[in-house]
Amino acid sequence: MGKIVFFSIPAYGHTNPTIAVVEELTKRGHEVWYYSFNLFKKRIEAAGGKFISCDEYLPELKPEDEKKVGKDFSALIEMVVDTTINLDKKVCQELLAFKPDCIVADSLSIWGKLFAKKLKIKYICSTTTFAFNQHTAKLMKRGIGEIIRMVRGMPRINEKLRLLRENGYMVDKFITLIENDNNTNTIVYTSPEFQPLSETFSNKYAFVGPSVSAAPAYTGDKPTTVYISLGTILNKNNRFYKNCIKALKELDVDVIMSVGEKTDLSTLGEIPARFEVRKKVKQIEVLNQADVFLTHCGMNSVNESLYYGVPMVLFPQHSEQAMVAKRVATLGAGIMLRGNKPKQIRIAVEQVLYNDTYKEQAQIISKSFKVAGGAKKAVDVILDVINKGESIT
Ligand code: UDP
Repeated sequence: MGKIVFFSIPAYGHTNPTIAVVEELTKRGHEVWYYSFNLFKKRIEAAGGKFISCDEYLPELKPEDEKKVGKDFSALIEMVVDTTINLDKKVCQELLAFKPDCIVADSLSIWGKLFAKKLKIKYICSTTTFAFNQHTAKLMKRGIGEIIRMVRGMPRINEKLRLLRENGYMVDKFITLIENDNNTNTIVYTSPEFQPLSETFSNKYAFVGPSVSAAPAYTGDKPTTVYISLGTILNKNNRFYKNCIKALKELDVDVIMSVGEKTDLSTLGEIPARFEVRKKVKQIEVLNQADVFLTHCGMNSVNESLYYGVPMVLFPQHSEQAMVAKRVATLGAGIMLRGNKPKQIRIAVEQVLYNDTYKEQAQIISKSFKVAGGAKKAVDVILDVINKGESIT
């Protein structure tokens, strides 16, 4: 039986879709180790994997760094390199003893890719965002602020690359850290229909669809429901939440708003009767009954929304989310929010609520997700790579 090692980052969106894959692997009798973070211990163990905590090896995130998530590329590279160096001794020792057949690492858990390369273990990239190549890169418009931060950060990046080389990681240029060429086996958690320019990717890319768990069936009459969330990371935005309350309190709808763990609910003012405001909700269950989703366009939120055929009002917070938002808008399953003033929010929500075409388009994408193969196909891909015996570069 196979021995597979997973690596991910401490983010729900990047870990959730892999859990069903771990479960399917262990169900088929394979041994799975998962280098992850305490937040996910229970879920990984419940799926039959061996959880290994990386929390104490992660560089400390200062409050000012949190704002940079997804926006400052050099900060990301610094964090990745520091994590790799911190984990180097432990992981290399453990993996040399375990002798895995393959490493499956999230596209942002670049240390997984670096360990695979250093230890000459087969590597599969697992991407919970859109797959990325030179063609799709052109679709991702970076803001001027992001470009300036990247240029300013180049000396810091070069310094970190030097550190990697000193520790036996042969990386010549930083782009090889993030680049996924057409020869890299890659599991992509979306359908070819939703992936932009899917025809530009080689057959090493397996589009398996999102891994969305089934919510309990909804029974009985349900009120028209608007769901609002900015995800789990960049979700501290009191002004936006207050504007949503102002925008929607006069509409004949129920509103469920997830505002994140860092938001103090008492600072949002008076909550109208038809609003349910929580720090966190069971998003899948909420989407199963929602009629429109006002979302920050995190890939998982969008996948989940489309899976349940829920059209969206799109409010991306950085360039990667903007690319996802643009794809949804292009396929007609939602519209962009042009600004976060109450009037703009109300008009956008009403437009999506009272025009069936958005829902119809969301349902078409939903079908493409459901036939993409899911966790079973992801496992077939992993086992195929293990069994092929191809050379390791
Ligand atoms: N989520 C949830 N409850 C909430 C808000 C979010 O369960 O109240 C889940 C959501 O279902 C999704 C993930 O958190 O799976 C968010 O991932 P996404 O990629 O959308 O955004 P991120 O949090 O990474 O920005």
